[in-house]
Amino acid sequence: MLRDTLERFIEREMPLEAARQWDRDNHFPLEVHRKLAELGLMALAVPEAYGGAGRDIEAIVTVIELLSARSMAVAGPYIQSACYAGLNLAEVGSEQQKQTLLPRVVEEGLIFAYGISEPDVGADVAAVRCTGRVDGEMLVINGSKRFCSGARIAQYIYTLVRTGPREERHRNLSLVLVPTETAGITYTAQDTLGLKGTGTYDVSFAEVAVPLDHVVGGKDGLNRGWPMLVGPGLDIEKLEVAAMALGIATAAVDEAWRYAEEREQFGKPISSFQSVRHMLAEAKTRLYACRCLTYQTARQLDRDEPAAVETAMAKLFVCDTARDIVLSCQQVMGAYGYVRDFDMERHVRDILVMPILGGSSAIQKNNICSLLKLRK
Ligand SMILES: Cc1cc2nc3c(=O)[nH]c(=O)nc-3n(C[C@H](O)[C@H](O)[C@H](O)COP(=O)(O)OP(=O)(O)OC[C@H]3O[C@@H](n4cnc5c(N)ncnc54)[C@H](O)[C@@H]3O)c2cc1C
Repeated sequence: MLRDTLERFIEREMPLEAARQWDRDNHFPLEVHRKLAELGLMALAVPEAYGGAGRDIEAIVTVIELLSARSMAVAGPYIQSACYAGLNLAEVGSEQQKQTLLPRVVEEGLIFAYGISEPDVGADVAAVRCTGRVDGEMLVINGSKRFCSGARIAQYIYTLVRTGPREERHRNLSLVLVPTETAGITYTAQDTLGLKGTGTYDVSFAEVAVPLDHVVGGKDGLNRGWPMLVGPGLDIEKLEVAAMALGIATAAVDEAWRYAEEREQFGKPISSFQSVRHMLAEAKTRLYACRCLTYQTARQLDRDEPAAVETAMAKLFVCDTARDIVLSCQQVMGAYGYVRDFDMERHVRDILVMPILGGSSAIQKNNICSLLKLRK
């Protein structure tokens, strides 16, 4: 039922021509985002006690997949609202943060941006240099973040800072809700190949003061940022990226399939040539494997079963496979897969980052081996 409702919403509110324009203009369609909230889709991440419909990962994955198949300018901000804000606050927010912010996620699609990466901090997240200094009832933040996606459309940056000596790597990190308009923050846009619409930014903090109750989890959350970051929320995040990749690959396969039946060479549709037929058969088969893995893992999370290994496997397999699928679909379309007149060109730009975001494929392989205790 959700799929059906959403497909009709997408045709009505996100026509293909609009999706192309948002990509070309690097534009975030706020009005569509608000309508997703009105439709009750942010509520899928929020407990009923805070105005939501109760956490439903399979439903969230479905929404991410379908939106990603049409436009990353809508899918990215949906994740930033339902998952970055909704799921995280429900899991690790203080009671006050839940009461004030979760209803805003449900009703208006409140957006968080992730301020984790830094110029010298990529995979090694626990190495963050951005600092938070307690000063009376305030936390004063200094340093810089990089690749802060959606920082200019968000209301808060979910910022990881170091609140003690650097030697104690994991024990003095804190997550802080920094309102994006706070004095002392400057933003510099970074130009990326794809994921247009949300934009990604270098964010610099110079003596940025926020009340201590903005520490995620409240004052008690001080120095507890690491367990909050690598808890069950991280498992769900890996699946969010897999769902985006699945959506983009689905759109690419549909486009290549249609194109192959329409394009004629040597007096026949190219779909009659065995090499093209085999590429499409392989793409469909791999896509099916991606779909099974993504939804199987979502259901495991919904049953509250431990899923750290399976989510790492899903992130690794689906993102790498979806990239290969999209690139083979581009081959099916020949030169037309490389020009802006066709959506394939956008799908190629969007898919390439999926094996990098949210923990690269190499990091997932490391995780799988260490979680399964492979001897070093
Ligand atoms: C479009 C875009 C949007 C992004 N949005 C956000 C965001 O909103 N918020 C945010 O905080 N970050 C964001 N990021 C950053 C993203 O999460 C990082 O790019 C990612 O964590 C990898 O870090 P890095 O690129 O610095 O790679 P590095 O950590 O420098 O790694 C470089 C290479 O070395 C490999 N490598 C590193 N360490 C190991 C190891 N131990 N074992 C094996 N291989 C290793 C990696 O796999 C990779 O191939 C975004 C990035 C992009 C491109």
